Amino acid sequence: MAEATVEEKIPAVGIGTPGPVVDGTTMFAPNLHGWEDPVPVSKILGGELSLPVFAMNDANAACYGEYRHGAGKGCANVVLLTLGTGIGGGIVVNHQLLIGSRGQAAEIGHTTIDLRGPRCGCGNHGCLEAFAGIHAILGRTLQLLQNGRKSILLDKIQGDFGQLNQENIGKFLSEAAAQGDAVALEVFETTGAYLGAAIESVVMVLDPDRVIIGGGVSRAGDFILQPIRRAVAARTPHLPFDPNNIVLAQLGNDAGVVGPAVWAREQRSGVME
Ligand SMILES: [Zn+2]
Repeated sequence: MAEATVEEKIPAVGIGTPGPVVDGTTMFAPNLHGWEDPVPVSKILGGELSLPVFAMNDANAACYGEYRHGAGKGCANVVLLTLGTGIGGGIVVNHQLLIGSRGQAAEIGHTTIDLRGPRCGCGNHGCLEAFAGIHAILGRTLQLLQNGRKSILLDKIQGDFGQLNQENIGKFLSEAAAQGDAVALEVFETTGAYLGAAIESVVMVLDPDRVIIGGGVSRAGDFILQPIRRAVAARTPHLPFDPNNIVLAQLGNDAGVVGPAVWAREQRSGVME
């Protein structure tokens, strides 16, 4: 019997990239140097590999991974928020990934939650990301400390505010919250309230089975999850949506690999396996 060809062993390749993706082309990814203009990722990689390549937005990829094999498994309607430097989003509606006409669907981080809010990296004012992205979490923490609040965090940074940064703030806040630190708990509560406001809007529009919280900040676990649930419960007393359906992601960084792999295989075969 002849050995299986590469094409038979590997039917397709999937890849997640930052930025909106339309027909395999990443339209712009301002955080990747040289990717300011459209990059035909599927075409370039497909040529190199001689295999069909399916590119998708990285947050959509994480959402699809969680939907198929993680916290959203078995659900028809799933929303995912990735909490990190930015706030990414992914949406599955009736078992279909929602991509939009320009690859821009599910940009939940850039929905406006305050008309007069601070300027966001995208140029808009009052985006969710400007209130709940890592930059905002860091700023909120520093403000409390600079106002003279006592906190375990001050020991961690030896009183030097400059020691706190976007890389360590999530870990420090989680450690401090675990020890009952009032500043850390307040930062999570406030951040969760903003996230809850945005999630309430998403629930009103999409009526999902599950809302999944992923990304680096979600490593804080219940410290961020429970404030989000409380905020959503307070805002949705009229809805049958159970805030316990807001859950933590299960696949971690693997979601960004599992999602494109499964999606590419399904795009290739035309069926959901
Ligand atoms: Zn924005």
